[in-house]
Amino acid sequence: MAFGPEEQYVRHLGIYTAIFNLDNYLGLQNTGRLYATPGKAANVFTDRGNTEARAAFHFTADHLEYDRRDPASHKRIITERFAGEGWEVPRLLKERDAAGEFFFDANAQVVMDSWSAGRVVLLGDAGYCAGPTSGRGTSQVLIGAYLLAGELATRDGDHTAAFAAYEQQLRPYVAEHQALGHEGAERFFMPAPTQEVLDMLAANAPENTRAEPVRLPDYTPAPPPDRRRSLRTGTRPHGRRCRRSARADAAAQKPAAGSSPAPNWAGWQPALPPRFPQRPCTRSVLRAAPTTHIRFHPYQTNRTERAPQ
Ligand SMILES: Cc1cc2nc3c(=O)[nH]c(=O)nc-3n(C[C@H](O)[C@H](O)[C@H](O)COP(=O)(O)OP(=O)(O)OC[C@H]3O[C@@H](n4cnc5c(N)ncnc54)[C@H](O)[C@@H]3O)c2cc1C
Repeated sequence: MAFGPEEQYVRHLGIYTAIFNLDNYLGLQNTGRLYATPGKAANVFTDRGNTEARAAFHFTADHLEYDRRDPASHKRIITERFAGEGWEVPRLLKERDAAGEFFFDANAQVVMDSWSAGRVVLLGDAGYCAGPTSGRGTSQVLIGAYLLAGELATRDGDHTAAFAAYEQQLRPYVAEHQALGHEGAERFFMPAPTQEVLDMLAANAPENTRAEPVRLPDYTPAPPPDRRRSLRTGTRPHGRRCRRSARADAAAQKPAAGSSPAPNWAGWQPALPPRFPQRPCTRSVLRAAPTTHIRFHPYQTNRTERAPQ
């Protein structure tokens, strides 16, 4: 609504993809299988410690007309495109009908001159999707969220300046990934990929991997607002406290008669968790880590680690 019709910003990359979950009936162990014909591919790979699998169908096509909210029509498109194909494709089409989760969409990018309009700002795919073929979408949204939160927390309520600083810092990073997404889409349907090429892809395309991790600024957020004011206005400081808990906090902190009435925030510092040990990144490490000081290796999330402080 704030930016106008999405057709102005969405750039189709010429590939459609469907993904769904299924039993690991091929008995794959931490690996995948790919079937490719000109302009079409189907693949299966393991997930959740080989207890299940994901399968995907990909095909090239210019813009297709279909109802985005109608999975039956998406499945019909896949059936028509992959009719008569060999390998495991007939079985995968059956598995697809039984799948609990089914995704279908065009591979696309979002390209916008500005990521904000007034008090509305875009984060992640909504503003700067690089496309699945970039392999960087999750990095973009995490880093974007970090920068946006940091800029908002340190610009004293000046959202215009915060939005501009967020965009200015992230633009080059996004431009690089959108170029990568384009190249990936062009190379996606290789005529006959050699084992060497497949090995290279499996090793995260080392020629594309960043040699240097992204350096992110550290932010020291402004002190939290006076809780009594938020109690009066019913606002939620930091979006966490409900009115009841704010009231309980205020009652608990009510100064005794004659004592200093307001907390003194001078020199206030956020309480950061203790230093994180250097070890390979797992989901729980990422969840527990403070948002400051994280080094991102965009291609190889298992190499993400805490930067020395
Ligand atoms: C097939 C495929 C493969 C991918 N592979 C990779 C990969 O290997 N590596 C990688 O880094 N990235 C990959 N990506 C990209 C990655 O998934 C996205 O870049 C990332 O999820 C973007 O995060 P986001 O929060 O911006 O958007 P999303 O994850 O799309 O989150 C947006 C959320 O908003 C919700 N929503 C939408 N409209 C409304 C509304 N009106 N009201 C309320 N909620 C709404 C949606 O339901 C969704 O939950 C892949 C993407 C696809 C499609």
